[in-house]
Amino acid sequence: MNGWTELPTRCLNPRPVFAVNRHKHVYVRVGCDRWHCKGCSKWKARRVQRRMLMLDANWLVTWSLPPDRGEPTRENLRYLHAGKRVVVRWFQRQPWGLERFGWVRETGTEGGRLHLHMLAKFRSRFLPFKRIQKVVKAAGLGVIDFEPIWRAADAARYVAKYMSKELAEGVKELAGERLFGITPGHNLPKNPDWKLLRPGEIPVWAFQPSTIALVLSVPMYAIPPPV
Ligand SMILES: [Zn+2]
Repeated sequence: MNGWTELPTRCLNPRPVFAVNRHKHVYVRVGCDRWHCKGCSKWKARRVQRRMLMLDANWLVTWSLPPDRGEPTRENLRYLHAGKRVVVRWFQRQPWGLERFGWVRETGTEGGRLHLHMLAKFRSRFLPFKRIQKVVKAAGLGVIDFEPIWRAADAARYVAKYMSKELAEGVKELAGERLFGITPGHNLPKNPDWKLLRPGEIPVWAFQPSTIALVLSVPMYAIPPPV
C-alpha cells in the first residue's frame, strides 16, 4: 500500500523529521528553519511578515543610537535594546500607550549605523512627541522617528524588506544576535491537517526503508509543521 507523495522540501539541510498531511496523503521533510539556509530564510521572513501584519500597527517607529555610538557592534546593539526597553515600559504606562509591537534590526550599508524599526500599535493616533523625545533622550538613545501607518500591509512589507536586506548585507559582528522580536501571542494559527511524525506513529508502509531508519534513529524535534 502506498499512494503517499513526498513534497520537495525547500530546505538545503532538512531535519530527519516529517510533517504529514493525512488528508492529502502527502509528506515533507521538515526544514532546519535557520536564517542562513537559503531555502528556509525566504519562508521564515514571509512568516515574520504575516505575524507583523497581525499586530495591526498604526505607527512605524525607528530607534537609533546617539551620534557618538551608532556603529553596529554587539555592545551598541545591547545598549539600544536596553534603552528601548526602558522607553517601551514607559510607553506601556501611558493612556495613549503601546499595546503591542514587533521590531527588526537594520545596520544600514552606507554609514553602517544601527537602527531598530518597530511596527507599533498605540492606543492613540495622537502622541506627545516632545515628551517622548525627552524620555528617549533620558534613556540615552538618539532621536526616534515616528511615521503613521495608513496601510498595514505596506508597513509589514517595508519591515520585511529591512529584514531581508539585513540577512543579505548585515554585518558579521552581529551574527547570532536576534534579527526581530514580536510581542508574545502573535503566532500564526497551526494548520490542523499537518502532523509531525513521532517515531511511534510512523505509518511504516508509507515510506522507503531508508527513510524509516532515518526517522527512527533520531529524537523528536519540537518543530511546528509548515503552514
Ligand atoms: Zn533550511
